[in-house]
Amino acid sequence: MIFETHAHYEDKKFDADRIELLSSMKENRIGRIINVGSTMETTRASVELAKQYDFMYAAVGVHPSEIEDLNEDEMLWLENAAKSEKDVVAIGEIGLDYYWDKDPAVQEKQVYWFERQLELARQVDLPVIIHSRDAAAKTMEMMKSAAKLGTRAVIHCYSYSAEQAKEYVKLGYYIGVGGVVTFKNGRKLQETVEAIPMDRILLETDCPYMAPEPFRGRRNDSMMIPYIVEKIAEIKGISTKEVEDITWDNACRLFGVEAPREE
Ligand SMILES: [Zn+2]
Repeated sequence: MIFETHAHYEDKKFDADRIELLSSMKENRIGRIINVGSTMETTRASVELAKQYDFMYAAVGVHPSEIEDLNEDEMLWLENAAKSEKDVVAIGEIGLDYYWDKDPAVQEKQVYWFERQLELARQVDLPVIIHSRDAAAKTMEMMKSAAKLGTRAVIHCYSYSAEQAKEYVKLGYYIGVGGVVTFKNGRKLQETVEAIPMDRILLETDCPYMAPEPFRGRRNDSMMIPYIVEKIAEIKGISTKEVEDITWDNACRLFGVEAPREE
């Protein structure tokens, strides 16, 4: 069974066939899915989806490019959801995105709300799902401080160097590996997979985006994860079953999900 750690099934690209698609996950060996919020609206939708499907969990949080959504009332909503909804297993996706926002004043706001959501995660004792783009140095600096305070995390859709990935692993964090690892220009991520231990890798799609080869550019969904598994198995020189089993255990460990492996 495959543990999909990062999906966005509330996205309108799934409106036409969401129920059909999610109903076919288990028969296609997708055993667990975390639906990740990026705005307050998609966070609420993620919590609802997790209620509807026994194999789905939710991450609640606001993406760095969406921080206009955040204020004290919404922070309180996130805290309550994290405390009272048993299917909420993480705070995310949160982080820094300097690719879309070059304005230093906006970047400062991103840092503020990232830190606030890191604090929230510690307060409710949940791991965090990190989104970081074009902000390698600042993310590393903040995650180093967070590690000292006991933060648990996955760096989702990892796009930085293998060297930095090793540093994140040393801090106790996990690395999210998705479709990019199958791309012809995915060398950096392939090197990262080679450089880090298998017990720190999580499988993810980021669907509807980031479809692996040979479906690059099309709508992605969790049933395409086997292409990612195959690539990781090839790089690591192990079987696809080993990749699935180890990443399943990794996800259960990080997200505190008691999920016996179903064969
Ligand atoms: Zn995402």
